[in-house]
Order: sequence, then structure tokens, then C-alpha cells
Amino acid sequence: MVQGAVADAGRQRTPVGLGLDSATVRSRMVARLRSLGVADERVLAAFARVERHRFVDSALANQAYEDTSLPIGFGQTISKPSIVGQMLQALLEGRSAAGAGNEAAGSRPPVLRRVLEIGTGCGYQAALLAVLAEQVVSIERVGALAEKARANLAASLVRNVHVMHGDGRLGAPELGPFDAIVSAAGGDELPAVWLEQLAVGGRLVAPGAELRAGVQELVVVDRHPSGVTRRLAGEVYFVPLKSGAE
Ligand code: SAH
Repeated sequence: MVQGAVADAGRQRTPVGLGLDSATVRSRMVARLRSLGVADERVLAAFARVERHRFVDSALANQAYEDTSLPIGFGQTISKPSIVGQMLQALLEGRSAAGAGNEAAGSRPPVLRRVLEIGTGCGYQAALLAVLAEQVVSIERVGALAEKARANLAASLVRNVHVMHGDGRLGAPELGPFDAIVSAAGGDELPAVWLEQLAVGGRLVAPGAELRAGVQELVVVDRHPSGVTRRLAGEVYFVPLKSGAE
């Protein structure tokens, strides 16, 4: 039977013996995230859904559900889940659903319409954003990582993320404005064009200037009809936001 053949193909891709496909493995991570202060149920539901081990090299897959960053090649890392949770929670805080969801399929309505992510890396945070938003545009400066992210997202059947290879410091003016912008790289002043590409009512969450060695401020900027407000929402550490693409 065709259905049986498809199911068999799916089973063959699964790492044998690790049990990483099990929802229980992800629910343990969700419980840890909750204990570390991630309280937004929509964010937790996204973590419960996306299979993080499909975004890391198979040699590291057995560490995929620990609260740790892991190398993804090219000197870059997949961010620690609790930090990603903190960023997404800040992005969604105070927002209700943006549109009707497919309740019959058990999915929640998207909270955001159009999101811009800077620093796709392996595509894991983009996959989480894809659960929370209607459309995600994600920019990665390392071409080989952009390719890897596209492959990872396709393998996880994520269809609403558009991965672009380029310098995320320029944003994506032709695809904006965005009602949310999130960056996974920082260390300096935020590029002014990001604020220009933020819709009225939108929010930007990004690592800003380095406060001291190894610590950056987490900046939250809201765009109002009359201007922007900016606040600091904690301390984080992300890889540097570099210029140009390679
Ligand atoms: N969101 C990723 C995190 C990847 S780490 C995840 O889920 O794991 C941050 C990424 O930002 C790296 O891949 C790095 O290459 C990328 N980056 C750094 N500066 C950038 C820039 N100017 N434009 C786009 N991507 C950038």
C-alpha cells in the first residue's frame, strides 16, 4: 500500500534507538523551559511541536533537547532553547491572535502576520516562528547555512518560511513592513533600517550593545503611531551581527 510505503520511508529517516521523535522528549524540554521562566503557552506549544534534533547534525542529535547551544558549522551555533524562548516570549507579549487558525487540525491561530528574522542559522527558530506567524522571512549571511536551513525546514515540512541569503543588517525592505522583527545576532547599535521596516503596532526584539564581556542587552522596541519606545528586557549573549554576506 502506498500509505505504508510513505510511513516506512519516514521511519527510515528517523535515528534508530534514540527515541528523539517522541513527543515525551520534547515535553520534558517544555517543562524545563517553563521552570526557567518561559510562561507563554503559545511559545511553549511551538517548542512542543518542532523537532529540534532535525536541525542539528546527527552526531549531536542526542543533545538536541538539552538546554544548550550546539555548533551548526561555520563557527555558528543553534541558540539555547531557553534564550530562544525568552526572545519569542518578549516578541509575543501583549498580543492576541492575528487571524483564524485551523482548529480542526489542532493548530492554534497564528499570533503574528509577517515576521522578519535576522540570522537563520540552521532554521530552528524560524521553524518555531512559522508556528506562531502566517509568514516568516529569514535572512542568513552565510550562504551554506541558508542552504542548510532551507533543507532542514523542508524536511520538517515547514512551508511558510522564506530564507534569504544576504546581509540581514539591511533587512528586507521589499517584503516589509513586518509586525515583528527578531535578531539572533547582535553586539552593537541596532541598524536603523530595521525600525523603518517595523509596522506601526509592531515589535522588534534583538540583542543590542555589549554591556560587558560576553553580555549584551536584550532590546525591545515598539513602534507606535507617534514614534517608538525602547526598553531593556534582560541580558543575553548572541554571536556578532556581521556585515556583508559570504
Ligand atoms: N536562529 C538561529 C540562530 C543562529 S546563530 C537558530 O535557530 O539556531 C546566528 C546566525 O546569525 C548565524 O548563523 C550567523 O551567520 C547569522 N548572522 C550574523 N550576522 C548576520 C547578518 N548581518 N545577516 C544575516 N545573518 C547574520
